[in-house]
Amino acid sequence: MFEAVTEAIVLDKIDQGEFDSRVYLYTKDFGRISAKITSSRKITSKLAGHFEPLKLVTARIIDKNGPLAVDGLSVKTGVKSGETVRIFSLVKELSAEGQRELPMWNFLLNLLEKGPENKSMVEALSLLGFDPAFARCDHCNGEKPNIFSADDLCFYCQNCASGVKLIDSYAI
Ligand SMILES: [Zn+2]
Repeated sequence: MFEAVTEAIVLDKIDQGEFDSRVYLYTKDFGRISAKITSSRKITSKLAGHFEPLKLVTARIIDKNGPLAVDGLSVKTGVKSGETVRIFSLVKELSAEGQRELPMWNFLLNLLEKGPENKSMVEALSLLGFDPAFARCDHCNGEKPNIFSADDLCFYCQNCASGVKLIDSYAI
């Protein structure tokens, strides 16, 4: 049976069923994975409080009908920032599942420890394969688009963005 211990950054966590949770992790060894945690919302759970967004954890993961986090210890809590939460959400959606990528790991770890910088969103997009440096608005071909939409994976300028309803968009 697959079993691994890896450092992981908790990107997000959602409730599942009555007592379970699903955590979205960016791991050092396996890239992004989502893992189930059973009974994590019972007060008696020893994992409660460890697998929370913005935490760096040492996680033990086994494969039981998909990844299951069976053990975890939080090592560090990251710098709270809205921009970090937005970047985590972008990475959760657009990074390839199960693909080890050290540059992304190092970027996320740095983001967690030091908080975002001016260019953090640009760097995240570049690492995900959507480099904004030479991008143009996908709709009017205008230069220097300032919004990226994860709905259609397109860049928008302010003008074009104001004409449509973007559900999941990121200011660059
Ligand atoms: Zn445009």
